[in-house]
Formats: sequence, structure tokens, C-alpha cells
Amino acid sequence: MSEKRMYKIGLDKTDSNGAFSCPYPYCGLKIDPNNEDKEAYEVVDVKMSGEEIESLTVDCKKCGSETKLICLPPYPQA
Ligand SMILES: [Zn+2]
Repeated sequence: MSEKRMYKIGLDKTDSNGAFSCPYPYCGLKIDPNNEDKEAYEVVDVKMSGEEIESLTVDCKKCGSETKLICLPPYPQA
């Protein structure tokens, strides 16, 4: 079994709704955490910082990548 691909993306790289494309180059699935499409992807982990979401880990079911959406600064460098 191959190792799971892991990506990190900052909220500054998403559109105004917090949606982003799966970072795996051959996938590009549109992921919108506010409109969870359970067929396509799954939120596997949510990390809170007080009342705010610090990060959201999303498992893409199309390509199997896991993307950690960093919701609070500092954001990761692309
Ligand atoms: Zn994907």
C-alpha cells in the first residue's frame, strides 16, 4: 500500500467561501467545506482554537489525498 499524499493549504488560498481544489495535480476536485459532498470527500478532523476552527482535514475520495486546510494564520507557504 502506498503512502497517503498529504497537503496543506491556507485559507488565504481558497475562494471567499473557503472552497478549494484538491491539490493533487491529477485530481483537482472542488472541495467546499461549507457544502460537504459526502460522496466526493469527507472531513476527517477538525481542530478548534477556542471558538474558531484552527484547521480542517479533508479526505478526498477521488484520489485519496488528505488536505489540511489551515484556517487561522500563519498560513503555510505555497
Ligand atoms: Zn483529490
